[in-house]
Amino acid sequence: MAAQRPRRVRIVEVGPRDGLQNEAAAIPTNVKVRFVDLLSEAGFNWIEVTSFVHPRAVPQMADADEVFRAIGKKPGVRYVALVPNPRGLDRALAAGVEDIALFVAASESFSRANINRSIEQSLEDAHQVTTASRLAGARVRAYISVAFGCPYEGPVSPARVLPVAERLFELGAEEVVLGDTIGVATPSDVSRLMDVLLPLAPADRWGMHFHDTRGMALANVMASLDVGLSHFDSSAGGLGGCPFAGPGAAGNVATEDLLYLLDGVGVEHRVDLDRVLEASRFIVDAVGHPLTSKVYQAGGRLTTIPAPR
Ligand code: MG
Repeated sequence: MAAQRPRRVRIVEVGPRDGLQNEAAAIPTNVKVRFVDLLSEAGFNWIEVTSFVHPRAVPQMADADEVFRAIGKKPGVRYVALVPNPRGLDRALAAGVEDIALFVAASESFSRANINRSIEQSLEDAHQVTTASRLAGARVRAYISVAFGCPYEGPVSPARVLPVAERLFELGAEEVVLGDTIGVATPSDVSRLMDVLLPLAPADRWGMHFHDTRGMALANVMASLDVGLSHFDSSAGGLGGCPFAGPGAAGNVATEDLLYLLDGVGVEHRVDLDRVLEASRFIVDAVGHPLTSKVYQAGGRLTTIPAPR
């Protein structure tokens, strides 16, 4: 039976973290702070601000503490920080983070390549992080990376995602976010995966995190809407998609493109597209390359010009 398409969605703006983390140019701390502040003004209820990863692993995020402390925090907005392990959690909590994101991979090879931990070890870390977060009064959203396909193992079947998701909910994750980390999914993959996962938890406990590596991200958003999902991650300008970083480096679905799509199909989101464009125009110089968002490139919504005569 077809699900009802939601009337309203919630977007997590991940540009400051997933976007900037993948950018080659070193972005000054004050520029990151201003970028987050501009995004706060655009109306997002959720913004993923930074990652408390080891500075040697991701130098771009070395100023996570400073950035998190310096951003203006609008009441009611949830400012999320990614923590890769329990050590990162201590730093995050010390910086005042109340919304934690963690990740576990759906494939063994990716988990080992990315963090040098097996899936099982990574779930043990997730257990520690969720327990300590709960004690500190922080909430947890949990990503499953490579939920559709893995660069080492190829397609990832829903049967492998299911037990990881099950564990993450058992540990107390408020929401499980399915990451198409390398951007391989198509709409059929989305519906196939959700056929298996939706019996586990209702639609509002899942988030979708699409990368646009093969141009499928918006199509996958539509497929997600059509199975009743309403939580999406996106990045302003399509950040993270550095065209010079080689294959596999595409960014998240661009926020501007997502908003334009949602407006077109009549789904509410409560984000101001023009203000997102403003944030993207602000960050473009710092990243030092063109942004990939199509709506950004087109200059925003349709505006008319005098007809030639
Ligand atoms: Mg990502």
